[in-house]
Amino acid sequence: MQRIAVFPGSFDPFTLGHKAIVDEGIDIFDHIVIGVGDNSEKRGMLIPEQRARLIEDLYRGNPKISVRIYKGLTVDFCRECQAQFLLRGVRNAVDFEYEHNMQLINERLSPGLTTVLLFTPPRYAAISSSIIRELVHFGGDPAQFLPEGVDLKKYF
Ligand code: ADP
Repeated sequence: MQRIAVFPGSFDPFTLGHKAIVDEGIDIFDHIVIGVGDNSEKRGMLIPEQRARLIEDLYRGNPKISVRIYKGLTVDFCRECQAQFLLRGVRNAVDFEYEHNMQLINERLSPGLTTVLLFTPPRYAAISSSIIRELVHFGGDPAQFLPEGVDLKKYF
């Protein structure tokens, strides 16, 4: 049986930290679906289609990774993808606390789904999408926090 994991998130934008989690995850799972959550309540920097396009460009030609936009509950999306695993990344104790709570809820909502937490390499622990959005807002260059070769301007 294929081991399928969903890696859900806002990915606004997808960072070096997110990529580290996917790259490590791909050694564990046969397939990873990167799920770009479309939460219309939250107005972000990029729209979900732009976020997904950036990630698709990054993993184009890699049959082990697919990218999808989803609305609604993550556990329902995992079911739709026939995923047995929900992959998340952890940077610090604050992330851990949040992810632990989510796991407790998701376990109740979807008992067969296993949450897998991977820890970020320390050099990426300070990187967050929100810091990048702020940097871009004030005219800074986010290149060093993004996967190599990503030109964020292309996606606006
Ligand atoms: P969400 O809004 O669902 O938290 P994010 O796009 O912020 O979406 O994050 C998606 C996942 O990636 C989360 O599990 C988050 O903890 C993890 N993550 C975010 N930044 C990093 C990073 N620098 N290193 C490792 N994991 C990260």
